[in-house]
Parts: sequence; structure tokens; C-alpha cells
Amino acid sequence: MTSPIRTERHDNVLVIISDNPPVNALGQAVRAGLTEGIAEALSDDSVEAVVIRCDGRTFFAGADITEFGKPPQGPSLPEALDKLEASDKPVVAAIHGTALGGGCEVALACHYRVAVPSAKMGLPEVKLGLIPGAAGTQRLPRLVGAEAALPLVAIGNPISAKKAKEIGLLDELVGEDNLAADAIAFAKSKIGQPVPRSSEGDANQDGIKNPDIFDEFRAKNGRKMRGFDAPNAAIEAVKAAGEMPYAEGVKKERELFGKLMTGTQSKAMRHYFFAERAANKVDDIPADTPLIDIKKVGIIGAGTMGGGIAMNFLSAGIPVTILEMKQEALDRGTATMRKNYEATAKKGRMTAEQVEQAMGLLTPTLEYNDLADCDLVIEAVYESMDVKKDVFGKLDEVVKDGAILASNTSYLDINEIATATKRPGYVLGLHFFSPANVMKLLEVVRGEKTRDDVLATAMKLSKRIGKVAAVSGVCPGFIGNRMLSKRQEQANQLILEGANYWDVDDVLLEFGFPMGPFQMGDLAGIDIGWHRDPSKVTTIREALCAVGRFGQKAGKGFYDYDEARQRTPSDEVKQIIADFAEKEGNEQRDISKDEICERLLYPMVNEGAKILDEGMAQRASDIDVVWINGYGWPLYTGGPMFWADTIGLDTVVAGLEKHGLPVSDYLRKKADAGESFN
Ligand code: NAD
Repeated sequence: MTSPIRTERHDNVLVIISDNPPVNALGQAVRAGLTEGIAEALSDDSVEAVVIRCDGRTFFAGADITEFGKPPQGPSLPEALDKLEASDKPVVAAIHGTALGGGCEVALACHYRVAVPSAKMGLPEVKLGLIPGAAGTQRLPRLVGAEAALPLVAIGNPISAKKAKEIGLLDELVGEDNLAADAIAFAKSKIGQPVPRSSEGDANQDGIKNPDIFDEFRAKNGRKMRGFDAPNAAIEAVKAAGEMPYAEGVKKERELFGKLMTGTQSKAMRHYFFAERAANKVDDIPADTPLIDIKKVGIIGAGTMGGGIAMNFLSAGIPVTILEMKQEALDRGTATMRKNYEATAKKGRMTAEQVEQAMGLLTPTLEYNDLADCDLVIEAVYESMDVKKDVFGKLDEVVKDGAILASNTSYLDINEIATATKRPGYVLGLHFFSPANVMKLLEVVRGEKTRDDVLATAMKLSKRIGKVAAVSGVCPGFIGNRMLSKRQEQANQLILEGANYWDVDDVLLEFGFPMGPFQMGDLAGIDIGWHRDPSKVTTIREALCAVGRFGQKAGKGFYDYDEARQRTPSDEVKQIIADFAEKEGNEQRDISKDEICERLLYPMVNEGAKILDEGMAQRASDIDVVWINGYGWPLYTGGPMFWADTIGLDTVVAGLEKHGLPVSDYLRKKADAGESFN
């Protein structure tokens, strides 16, 4: 096998070049090649400086993730980088594209770093539940200071070359189209000077002078980091860089890295990494299926969902025509969209021009004919089969042949909606989540007759608008809401049996969800769908509505809310629930948090198993993708199906049986065979 690394001589400079498509991952052959390249430079007296650069679209973009969990093959990255840094001839990293993870660690081990202005650098390991493991956490703070290093290591977002230059991570920005030559010239300018090694730097002293920066960082980012092990390990490693000599700091990093690597969180997050990519693939559709060009989108309904859905396309530069029944609703809908964009601009995440650009792509209308030339129309009107069929019938008449007609329905049968058209092959579900301009998930619902090119187009389009897509078959509630209803059923039942409703919420919060079902009810409004007759009380929600407890907007729902929207459990509600339970003949008892947790989550896993068995999801990992992106299932557990695998399917079955809950044949079969979903 030829090496992905080659060397070139340019006068007295040896250029080591990696050509390992697609992203110059740091696999074994690359690591070995780098070590040999440095050895070549050191053994040749006529070489006075070294440049390391990459062919293709990027500098080393990270470790070879396919090597994770396999027996390591030398040289390891730390070994290769120590040899590189030890060189007494200056070594320059010449960066284009991204220098991420291991790639950034290569750059850190070089004596100098130059990059083109479009390059990005970062240490995103934390996003896979890890920290850098090739001394990145020790070299970086010594080069840029602990304060600048913290967000890079513990949050993991990449930074621009400009920012990297500002914090001292880069020595020079070079010409966008002139990297190779400029890097050689830079290397020549450093010949004869003592080489600066980042392992010997002292910028990390800032963390010693002001040890508070670590706690301040924790306090500022607490919400983002909640429940995750890796960010805390990252902070510890950066702190160690200030407190320990380099060699000991490296040992500490290795220790922390090892613990994370063998722990469940990183396994779960690596599972998710692959799951998200797999979810975008539809197994029975050839990759070369010709796609439908989506240049213009129509939206029916400018309510909560229609407006948010429209914003996705506008933000991606795709013109949208939005239709309502009445001018007033249309005006209200467009005003909300503008308000949302302006709020984003106020936070500095968009410029005023970008707001105008996006809104300039929007055409409000009351006329179906204005949708004639749309390539895709998404319906987001009331959740009623009759209304939806009426809309699809009209669309079928006016919208051009070959255009896709999609419904945002949460529960309704896409196959039945498709019968209202003469083009059922072009009908599918595009189920966005609220707020649709924010939530990442897009459930793509494949109807019985949905054509391959229509489905493939939807999957591709999801990426264009920054969504994470997963395919669901047609069943009530599709993947996400179908499983949610099992959890909600148990939540309602638990409080009737005597569980405190705040305990139910707290169990889910402790598990890692951002919110529990009763908090969610308060946020959305208890009165959604209420019949408005206080004398008719058949559910707890109706009982709350009857006394004006409509949720957060009324200052009280399940909870009482103060000015800052902090919740306090309400004695009135506890009594309402107890009275209701008594009326229903439910005896109340103390219920432990363990029972609550098992009864909320195990039935979801059971429903997930049924969804798989029925072929409503292509793979278990798609279900994980749905729940992590659409419902706040904690990423560090890998999603409901991966989590079930982690605790063992036999545990889930035993738990369901203990609580007298149904166990599907599929789940039982898998558990009995000692198998897992993933
Ligand atoms: P909404 O009441 O906020 O908005 C519906 C809009 O559709 C209203 O502005 C109404 O004037 C308009 N409309 C009704 N009939 C129409 C017609 N025949 N022609 C044109 N416009 C019409 O409702 P929503 O929350 O945006 O929900 C819309 C759809 O999205 C529903 O199918 C719902 O199940 C689904 N959905 C909602 C959520 C959510 O959290 N709200 C999440 C996912 C999916």
C-alpha cells in the first residue's frame, strides 16, 4: 500500500504532505508517515525547516473515528507529535479547511502555525464525550492561556482563523490561494531561531493568577454542560495544565481521556454520531436516484408551525409563498416571523441586512394560484382530516405537475390525505417540531405510494435547511409522538395513583430531559383543545381549566409561577388531583422515583420495539435520532433504544412485568436471546 504521506523539497525546506481523502483523518498510515517525514528532515543536514500541509479539501480534520475501540496500532498520535515537537528544526503547520481534534493537536505540536483566512480550528472531542488525548489540553493553554483554552476544550465549537490569530493559536494568516508558497517562505524566515515549543509555553499562568476563571466558566455554561461528563473533565485538564509540570499534565489528560473513552457517555455519543448520518439514508432507495429541484416553496397556514417552517427555507435562501384564509391571519403570521428574526438579530446572531434578505424572500398570499409554480408545498393548517383533504384537493388542482405536496400533520394518516390528490406518489409527511425554526428534528413520513425521488429529495432538502431527518412509516403519531403518548399515559396514571406530579417532572429532569410532562403542559397551555365548559370535568386538565389554571401564561397551571417564571408545586392542584382520583376510584399510595422512572421510560422502549417490528422505523438508531433531536432525550445516554441496550433489554422486560405493563413479542424475543437493538 502506498503511504498517504509524501515529501517534497523546496530548497532547504522539506514539505511533508498528507493525501488521505476525504478529510486527511489521522489513521495509522498517516501517523507513521508524519514520523518518517520528520526523521527524514532531521537526518538530512541540508534541510533547515519543515512545513506540514495537506492535499484535498482540508488539513487533518481529526482522528480516524473508525479506529476507536479497536486495538491501537503504533505510532500513537501522542508519540508521533512528541517526535515532531522535539525537532530542533522549525516545523510549520500550513492549515486550510479545518484543523479539528487530532488535526488541531498536530498544529499545536508544530512550532508555528499559519493558515488561510477561511480556515477553522477547534477541539470538538467533547462533542463525542471525550477530551483531546494527544496533549491538546496541555499544549493549548500553554500557548493561548487557560481562559482562551476553556471554551475550545470544554464546549468544542471551532473558531475562525481570524479569532485563532487573535488568541495566539495562529502565528500568521497567509494568502487564501497561496498557502503552500507562503508557508515555505514563513518557514525560511524562522531558520536559525530557537524553536518555540507549546509544551514549554507559560500562557497558562493566567489560570494560576486567577483561579476563579474555572468556576466562572462552569457557572456561565452550566446549562449547556448539565449531565455531561466530558466538559468537566475538559475543565479539569485545562486547570491541570496550570498546576502541574507538562509531563504530569499529560498523564492527567491521559487518565481523564481513558475514563471517558471506556465510560457509557462517550459510547452513547459516538453511537449518536453515526446514527445521525445513518438516519439520512433510506436503505431501499439507490444513492443515485435523481432529485427534484426545489427552488420555490409554498406553505399553507401561517400559524405557529407554518411561520416557523417558512423561516427555515427563508434562512436558507429559498423563496417562500405563504397562504392563509384571511388577511388578518396572514399579517399576524408574517409579523411573528419578522419579530423572531429581529429577536435573533438583537442577540447578534444575524445582521439587520440578513433579516431583510430573509423577509424579502417571503410572499404572503390569499390566492392558491400563487402557488402554481412551487416545487414543494407544505401544509400546516388545523389538525383535521377534512380540512387537510380539502387543502390537498385544491393544491392538486393548481400546483404544477411533478411538485411535492407535504403535510406537517402530527398524527393523521398520510395515505388518506394522499387520496385527496391525483398524485399520491408526490405526497409525504414533513413533520417539523415546535418551534419549527429552532428544533432540529424533521420526521419524514413515507406514505405507501410516496415515490423514491420524492423521499430522496426530502432527505437532501432537510440538510439544506439544517435539519436532522429520520424516516417514519405511516402510523398514528409516527415515531416520536407514538412513543411520547406511552410516556404521557403513564405520567397521567402515576399521578392518579398518588405520585407527586413534581416528582414525575423531576425524575425526567434528573434523567437529563430539559423538562417534564407537566411543566411542558404548563408551557404549551393547559387549555389547548379545551371545550371551555367549566362544569364538564372528565380529566385532570379539564379540572385545572375549570379553575382558571391555564398554565404559565395565567401564572398558574400544574404549578404556581412567580414573576421570574420559577415554578412551585401547588397544594390546590395536589388536592384537585386527589379529589379526581377518589372520584375515579383510584387509591392513592406513595410511589418511588425508581418506579416513576421505569414506568415512564420502559413503555417507550417497548413501543420503540413495536415500531421497529412493524418496519415503521428503518433502524433502532433512527428512533434515537428522533428522540434526541425532537424531545430532548439526553444525548449522553444515546437515545431510548441505545439506553435500553446499555441497561439490558432483560432489565426492561423485567421492569415492565413488575409494573404489570405490556411487553411486545419483539422486545421479549430480543431480550430472551440476549440481543440488543443496536
Ligand atoms: P395553528 O392553529 O397555530 O395554525 C394553523 C393556521 O392554519 C392558522 O393560522 C389558520 O388560520 C390556518 N388555516 C386553517 N385552515 C386553513 C386553510 N384551509 N387554508 C389556509 N390556512 C388555514 O396550528 P399549528 O400549531 O401551527 O399546527 C398546524 C399543523 O402542524 C397541525 O397539523 C399540527 O398537528 C401540526 N403540528 C403542530 C405542532 C405544534 O407543536 N404546534 C408540532 C408539529 C406539528
